[in-house]
Amino acid sequence: WHRWIYDDYYRSYMLPLEKYGIKIHHDDVQVAWDRIVKKDYVHYTAQFFSAGWPVNFWRIDGMTEEDFEWFEAKYPGWYAKFGAYWENYRDLSLPNNPPSLWVDTGYVYPHRCWSCMVPCLIREDFVVVEVDGELYTYCSELCRWTHKNAFAGEYEGRPTPAMGRFSGKREWETLYHGWDLADAIKDLGFVRNDGKTLIA
Ligand SMILES: [Zn+2]
Repeated sequence: WHRWIYDDYYRSYMLPLEKYGIKIHHDDVQVAWDRIVKKDYVHYTAQFFSAGWPVNFWRIDGMTEEDFEWFEAKYPGWYAKFGAYWENYRDLSLPNNPPSLWVDTGYVYPHRCWSCMVPCLIREDFVVVEVDGELYTYCSELCRWTHKNAFAGEYEGRPTPAMGRFSGKREWETLYHGWDLADAIKDLGFVRNDGKTLIA
């Protein structure tokens, strides 16, 4: 993670933008690192995407004992926080079980961030704010600022171009609210010609 954030993202992408006059907030790199590594962002993300497999076109396999050991060795303390979730996930991934989201395993489906579209996975960073009379949820203060300020109709006296606005069909939780799961999967195009789903 260190190489990806500091070398790939910061040194080879963000820093070179400085010479074009773009102001780089250098401290944000440390914040990104803390979110991803210290606040378990990667682990919450894996959990979220595994839970959502019924409405996806791929699925994470249940873990083996070897996988559990690998995670605990690489991220000490991982099992205490996420072990029970992945044990349940493994059991429920066996044939004739309902999707794990349909079973009370203690996992709470998170709110979606209206800016980056990733769910709000770090509890202490979660923000709710009203924009044009509607309540929106954000994963972080920066994402709140992006929607509320930077991508508002106008920013610092200049109108925001259409491509910078958050409009249209942005996330399936709203789009498919109240639908039957089978109809949502058909509508998403995840049923093959032979009648099976893409992951069956
Ligand atoms: Zn966000």
